[in-house]
Amino acid sequence: MSERPQIIVVGGGAGGLELATALGNRLGRRKKADVTLIDASRTHVWKPLLHEVAAGTLDSHEDELEYLAQARWHHFRFRLGRMTGLDRDKREVLVAATLNDDGNVIVPERRFRYDTLVIAVGSLSNDFGIPGVKENCLFLDTTAQAERFQRRLIDCMLRAHTQGEPIRPGQLDVAIVGAGATGVELAAQLHQVTRQLSAFGLDTIDPERHIKLHVIEASPRILPALPPRLSAAATADLARLGVVVHTNERVVEVTNEGIRTATGHFIPASFRVWAAGIKAPDFLQDIAGLETNRINQLVVRPTLQSSRDDDIYAIGDCAACVMNEAGDTVPPRAQAAHQQASLVAKSIVRRLRGKPLPSYRYTDYGSLVTLGKYSTVGSLMGNLTGSLMVTGFIARVVYLSLYKMHQAALHGWLRTGLLTLAHFLRRAVNPQIKLH
Ligand SMILES: Cc1cc2nc3c(=O)[nH]c(=O)nc-3n(C[C@H](O)[C@H](O)[C@H](O)COP(=O)(O)OP(=O)(O)OC[C@H]3O[C@@H](n4cnc5c(N)ncnc54)[C@H](O)[C@@H]3O)c2cc1C
Repeated sequence: MSERPQIIVVGGGAGGLELATALGNRLGRRKKADVTLIDASRTHVWKPLLHEVAAGTLDSHEDELEYLAQARWHHFRFRLGRMTGLDRDKREVLVAATLNDDGNVIVPERRFRYDTLVIAVGSLSNDFGIPGVKENCLFLDTTAQAERFQRRLIDCMLRAHTQGEPIRPGQLDVAIVGAGATGVELAAQLHQVTRQLSAFGLDTIDPERHIKLHVIEASPRILPALPPRLSAAATADLARLGVVVHTNERVVEVTNEGIRTATGHFIPASFRVWAAGIKAPDFLQDIAGLETNRINQLVVRPTLQSSRDDDIYAIGDCAACVMNEAGDTVPPRAQAAHQQASLVAKSIVRRLRGKPLPSYRYTDYGSLVTLGKYSTVGSLMGNLTGSLMVTGFIARVVYLSLYKMHQAALHGWLRTGLLTLAHFLRRAVNPQIKLH
């Protein structure tokens, strides 16, 4: 083990990968510190793209980044494994063994010593303990889950296309619980994809007659976190697409036939997707005496250091950072993870030099929701100017720019430009959707 400070980042997602890259460039390159990224996966796909992977409008293999390659290019180490615990006395991160599909060990259980630890393990869907959700819903928490959704969709369409008997009512219906950005965007993507699949030869399926898309939301309006004007615009767009929106409907049970709500409604659907709220992974709950909240997020101070340990930071969805006097915490968004990653990169460099640490202040640059190829709506500069409603082409460009900023933080603008060009060329020569 070298004498250099050991910096460990756990979780290479929207926040953690940007942070490991920045620290590798600033400290690893000049051998001022050893920077190690630990992730449970071998590749990174930016999470806000997962609904496109699920619908098949994006092939995850096109947009994935190999951690080992990124580590080599940016002077940090990558270690594969899932963090399961923490030993604060010995200052070690506990990582479980990684097994292959046959259950054989690829990488054994390990411990990694840290001087500075950043936990950036993101979040998972929160089923709020509602009966049947875990067993009967699909989730979009990981690339593997999004890919499984896409394969199931294609399999069901192929089966329906070739079956002898007529398509049963509800056989191809999809019910999405949660009308936040994820649920609304997924509904629009699925509308687009089912029409395209039908056009690609599955022509015994008439999407207008055979595929009903439902979005179910407990609040009085969809996109409850966005201004009412935007909800109204998105509601009108979904109505035009024939998506059935159920508001004021709290889900109380999910079966393998459909979704039951508190008002007694039962919405039959073969595909049930849960996109209603998040929590941090369970292993974080009260981990090694650190302070966590009721959804397992690590409580952090404005410096993003955990409330009980200066050497441990948390960023992104797994961090609870108070942002106003009412005690609201920073929302679980890619833009927050991006901002926090750049602040912690500065903070760690300053700390090594014995300088005072900067404080984090969430800047809400607004929220954009894209309804597939049909439209994009959103508000810009949420807490800067009130909010400015945008739609159409400008909204689409701003929506795409969030991902471009992430890519630029990982690769620089030149490579981001080349990747964007490569993406457009691939789109020009390949089908618009994944067909297998
Ligand atoms: C479908 C969808 C659409 C979204 N759209 C938007 C959007 O348009 N705009 C927006 O701002 N936000 C959006 N979000 C939210 C956004 O994706 C998250 O807020 C953001 O990814 C959080 O970043 P993070 O770094 O905290 O975690 P993540 O990006 O989730 O990364 C967590 C990483 O930790 C790894 N990991 C997890 N557990 C462990 C462990 N125990 N050990 C080791 N590694 C572990 C994971 O493999 C992953 O690489 C969307 C989310 C979803 C699901």
